[in-house]
Amino acid sequence: MLSFSNAVLSLVFLNGIDAHAQKHACDSTIPNQPLIFRVGNGSSIRIWHDPWLPSPSQGFITSEPSPGVEDATVDQLILPGENSWDHDLLADLFSEEDRGQIMKIPLTAHGREDRMYWIHDKKGVYSVRSGYKSLMADSFIHSYSTTENFWKELWRLKIPAKVRNLIWRASLNVLPTVDQLRVRKVEVDSHCPVCSIHDESVLHAFVSCEFAQKIWEAVGVVNSPTMAANFKDWITATLKNHQQDQEIIVMLCWAIWLNRNETVWNAKSFTVLKVVTIANNFLQLWRDANRPPSKLAISSSSPELVKWKPPTRGSLKLNIDASIFEDRGMARLGLVIRNDLGSFVAARVVTVRGIVDPLLAETLGVREALSWIKSKSLEVQTIEMDALLVYNALQSEGIDNSYFGILTEECRLLAREFPHLKFRWVRRSANQVAHTLAKTAESLHAIVEWFYFPPSFLSSVLIADLMNE
Ligand SMILES: [Zn+2]
Repeated sequence: MLSFSNAVLSLVFLNGIDAHAQKHACDSTIPNQPLIFRVGNGSSIRIWHDPWLPSPSQGFITSEPSPGVEDATVDQLILPGENSWDHDLLADLFSEEDRGQIMKIPLTAHGREDRMYWIHDKKGVYSVRSGYKSLMADSFIHSYSTTENFWKELWRLKIPAKVRNLIWRASLNVLPTVDQLRVRKVEVDSHCPVCSIHDESVLHAFVSCEFAQKIWEAVGVVNSPTMAANFKDWITATLKNHQQDQEIIVMLCWAIWLNRNETVWNAKSFTVLKVVTIANNFLQLWRDANRPPSKLAISSSSPELVKWKPPTRGSLKLNIDASIFEDRGMARLGLVIRNDLGSFVAARVVTVRGIVDPLLAETLGVREALSWIKSKSLEVQTIEMDALLVYNALQSEGIDNSYFGILTEECRLLAREFPHLKFRWVRRSANQVAHTLAKTAESLHAIVEWFYFPPSFLSSVLIADLMNE
């Protein structure tokens, strides 16, 4: 039986693995390069050598580099101090097609590190299901079909996508362990960075390393690494023998790898208790964040979700919606603020070129709302939206490596500046004014604002909301 300490230790969330380590792991092993860089600060992505465009076809820049700039990195295309692409430079360097792709990439204010993400997945989160589909689509990998059951088991587990990703890659033997790096002629010490005694392989890192042994012993997993030829054999047998504890076992694998990377990159290592606690807490947090939201929001018969309601006395409410104009390659964000009498206070419409993904657009809407109320010092207490996925992402502390994830995180950070602010999900029918604003407003300007006097096309929907009583 597994038993865990419930001690709450500070959690360390390493969001994925070092970008370059991942790159080593993926370079030569997986055909058709399904992993794409997500641009953070851009400093570790080489413009002409790495896949970083959000295009599902390949991800690489197609324009030829001018002499001398071949090795430039993506950060050089970003205006320093502004989260915006250097449009003049883009025009000098790239074809219109490449430029269109680049402009689809949202930039964030906090210079984050660059990460890899999985292009085949709609949400950009690297999941084994999509990884598997893509692998199977490639006849090169037919030998994996014999182990289909193992992958099926793995998808069935309710675990964070990045943990599944790790197990999947460990099972394919494509983690950047030192033996793998040496195969690729990367000069590294062959010793395991954790125990410094044996050579490191995937099986060693997760199973036979002294430290890993202590973990498995501590949680009561019977462990005989010598019986397994590789990590996949070991995890298959172990999951079979511990049916009730499969999820925590893979979480422990993830935490063991986290400890290994901490040792390599930060020269820090965890205790056995800490590794077990991290695994357990992360699983709990993830489960809390992924509880079906529908029960909370949708099954509620509360009439206020269906019809717009004025905010509580003395406060303001902001409604947001986004509209996608696919043919024009842009999104429009509609923001409207009303007071406790339901009277119009202000509205803002922002046109964002290059963005045609509804999730991204809605999230940009939230970010826009937060910076707007900050800059105008508006006492908004509630921000309402009808995009359930966006609302749920804002509520959870879950980790998501996609562009959507990075923006959500930024919104959560911004929101901390308003201690009384609440996000609420409402039905589309309660969000008609913002919806109409995003859909109808026509302007040549990127940003249009109205204060106290609403634009005439909003009058009827504003009145309709007031007749809800
Ligand atoms: Zn070791």
